[in-house]
Amino acid sequence: MPYGYNGNILHVDLTNGKLEVENPPEAFYRKYMGGSAMGVYYILREMPRGADPLGPDNVLTLFVGVTTGAAISGQSRVNANAKSPLSGGIGDAQGGGFFPAELKFAGFDGIVIKGKSPKPVYLFINEGRPELRDASHLMGKVTGEVDAILKEELGDKKIEILQHGPGAENGVLFSSLVSMSNRHAGRTGMGAVMASKNLKAVVVRGTKKPAIYDSKALAALNRTGPAGVKNNPDMDGLATHGTAVVSLFNNSIGCLPTRNYSEGQFEGAEGISGELMSETILKERDTCYACVVRCKRVVEVTEGPRKVEPTYGGPEYETLSTFGSYCGVDDLKAVAYANQVCNQYGIDTIACGATIAFAMECYENGVITKEQTGGLELKFGDAEAMLAALDAIVHNQGPLGKVLSQGSEKAAAIWGNGADEFLITSKGGEAPAHMPQAKRSLGLIYAVNPFGADHQSSEHDPYYEEGVPDFNLDRLKLIGLSQPQPAYSLTPEKVKFAYNSQLFFSLCDSAELCQFVYGPAWTLYGPKETAEMINAVTGWGVTVDELQEIGARRLNLFRVFNAREGFGRADDKLPKKFFKALKGTGPTSGFALTQDELDTAIDEYYRLAGWTDNGVPTPATLKQHDIEWAAEYLPG
Ligand code: SF4
Repeated sequence: MPYGYNGNILHVDLTNGKLEVENPPEAFYRKYMGGSAMGVYYILREMPRGADPLGPDNVLTLFVGVTTGAAISGQSRVNANAKSPLSGGIGDAQGGGFFPAELKFAGFDGIVIKGKSPKPVYLFINEGRPELRDASHLMGKVTGEVDAILKEELGDKKIEILQHGPGAENGVLFSSLVSMSNRHAGRTGMGAVMASKNLKAVVVRGTKKPAIYDSKALAALNRTGPAGVKNNPDMDGLATHGTAVVSLFNNSIGCLPTRNYSEGQFEGAEGISGELMSETILKERDTCYACVVRCKRVVEVTEGPRKVEPTYGGPEYETLSTFGSYCGVDDLKAVAYANQVCNQYGIDTIACGATIAFAMECYENGVITKEQTGGLELKFGDAEAMLAALDAIVHNQGPLGKVLSQGSEKAAAIWGNGADEFLITSKGGEAPAHMPQAKRSLGLIYAVNPFGADHQSSEHDPYYEEGVPDFNLDRLKLIGLSQPQPAYSLTPEKVKFAYNSQLFFSLCDSAELCQFVYGPAWTLYGPKETAEMINAVTGWGVTVDELQEIGARRLNLFRVFNAREGFGRADDKLPKKFFKALKGTGPTSGFALTQDELDTAIDEYYRLAGWTDNGVPTPATLKQHDIEWAAEYLPG
């Protein structure tokens, strides 16, 4: 009998409506653990090389992990993977909430989706029974409406729904997958992929909880949770103010991207801070299945020109930054409204806000004219202009919306005229709100990460810089990191920090663990407790080293996928803008990355990973990680 998981993976061929269940052996679950490691396993085997990301040959996978649904914090996550329409490389997005646990209780550990339905459908999995149902009546409706209709017509308020919004139907490439109308698997355009398959939603309901190997050990670990939050300042801040607790800290260290990453300090930071949100528009805190941290925000605005409904949750730090400081906007209610629009239309807030900021800089520098903005004075600091651009994007309308809906990289190619000088992208993804000028190892990860700039793919530099508390260092030692480095450095040891912590985060995106709860440094549980939790659920007796191996498998399989699609070292790059000195105030004013520094770091990173000079895993490296089967997918 499996512990923690069901042993069932659903294969859906939308072209012919065929549904099949696969029952992989236990060794498969232990080797990949779920999430994107399992997803890319199927994508490599089932998606032909060169497939159109928005065509029927693309394969979309949705996987939870072996511990999803267990009674402990931070386990209810789902990963979506497919070829990304933004980069042409691997796409990867993780989301939380209650959908992941409910998918497990409905009897499945993952879904592999291929083909294209001749008409809009949704997949309904009810107590182990999957079926495809007509979704014509759901098209064009915002996420909250779809949730309400499905709950009404299925007569069950406890169903969980993962859907793409009308933004994807309108052709917005950076569309996300949304559950609860406010939780996103946000990045790399996974909503656009699902929409291209005429699959509107996956709806799940179930009551079968997988068996737990050692419930007492799991309960003991779970009991340390509330105290762990209270006694850990990082966790307490996250619980109290949400992810936006870092707004003012990042501003103080010159790491709050301002006016499209031109500056690292924003004079209006107080206006978009987690503290102000708590004092003003916060209605309540929310959570994911069984999580004691409750970091999710629910905000409400009942007065003024734009109402914000609690249904649509509240803005994260990234959203407050991209629609706020990136655009030079310090109007919290305007940003909360932008967040609501993105939640209604199923849009990645990072890509969207950053793309608007990019367009603002293009406009202010004469790269584009009013003709291209549809008459909009698209200037930094103008909240109304920001919201007008957002409206054009989600509807994919007008000269501005039609271009920006494709993301800033494609917009720069369309506009030309030097627009690429203002890009902040890597592999088609706009950089999140943690600046590589201040956190140098993040710059390396933004460049080499297989799915572009991502702040959740490695630990951040301040946790491995001189003066880091013993609490964090003791945990980092468990993944081979014991020599904190000077601030703002990108030494070989910092490269090791980036790589080793990336492996742990890669494990989290496979076992489907929230990186605010399980991590190599500041989180509620460190590497040791992560292994203990997985062992309590599965009985496997895994070590931290074995967990790092799973992270390495996912990372290498991602690189194999990208290499097969023609990616190499030339794609592991950063935008020109990151090599220009930051303007404005703060400790990072005047800072820039250098190409030499990045090249040296990439060399060292490839060496640690066991990849060629072109950044491709060798057959020997694949063998070392026990995934030699993937060598057949390496290019020529
Ligand atoms: S820490 Fe926050 S995002 Fe993570 S599982 Fe808990 S409530 Fe969800």
